[in-house]
Amino acid sequence: MIRILIWIGLMGYSTLLFATEWHATQGDMIEVHVHSNEPIQSLSCLGKTWPIQAMNNHEWRGWIGVDLKSKNKVYPIIWTTSSSHIKDSLRVQKGKFRISNITVKKKMANFDSKAIQRIRADQQAIGKTYDIKVDMKPDFSQVRIPVEGIESTPFGAQRYVNGQPRSPHAGIDIAAPKGSIIVAPLAGKVLLVEDMFLNGKLIAIGHGFGLVSLYAHLGKSFVQVGEHVKAGQAIAEVGMSGRSTGPHLHWGVRFNHARINPHSLLALKNL
Ligand SMILES: [Zn+2]
Repeated sequence: MIRILIWIGLMGYSTLLFATEWHATQGDMIEVHVHSNEPIQSLSCLGKTWPIQAMNNHEWRGWIGVDLKSKNKVYPIIWTTSSSHIKDSLRVQKGKFRISNITVKKKMANFDSKAIQRIRADQQAIGKTYDIKVDMKPDFSQVRIPVEGIESTPFGAQRYVNGQPRSPHAGIDIAAPKGSIIVAPLAGKVLLVEDMFLNGKLIAIGHGFGLVSLYAHLGKSFVQVGEHVKAGQAIAEVGMSGRSTGPHLHWGVRFNHARINPHSLLALKNL
């Protein structure tokens, strides 16, 4: 195939006419590539800057996280070099998310002001981990599922608790026997270990690149804040702490704050 590249020079600004259109579904983390003779200095999309890595022969790659609630439309992808920009695009498709109903005891569905305060403080503590810089580069060839089991609630499910709508499910629930060993899906640094009101015992691990993974409703945990873990290292046991109707792992992934489907992280293994 003959590829004709036409460049328009305009006051030092260049545009590649035959740009690449990348496709993603709400909640996807994707790997994108570009060819550039000049070093790529940054990659931006969806109003954020994303991690990049040089490959061989003037090829560069980067990773973009599409939040669960990103609107389905086409977004520009901008690769910046010292003298120009390369423009690609990202088409985001709507996810097909399930509706999930759960019934819990009244005190776990309708909260008093003290409980609401605790829930807010928990959310803030988790939110803070998304901004902690972890000086590591995730090796996606190492990625693995933290525990084998049955996926009881998929990513993105719109939840109704006792008939009332709640925020969509920003992770996957993996039902597994109590005490099953949970392993780190990638190497990382433990950012948070805390007992929370809804999430129960929770661990957050930073993997570098702004990628953070969360593990909730745990039984015993084996790690401490500040500790480095290897991919495949045991971090905790499956439990049913917090608001949980049975033993399971809630596994969440955040990439640059975006709520990511853990399956799309697992899919990076085979690229
Ligand atoms: Zn969950």
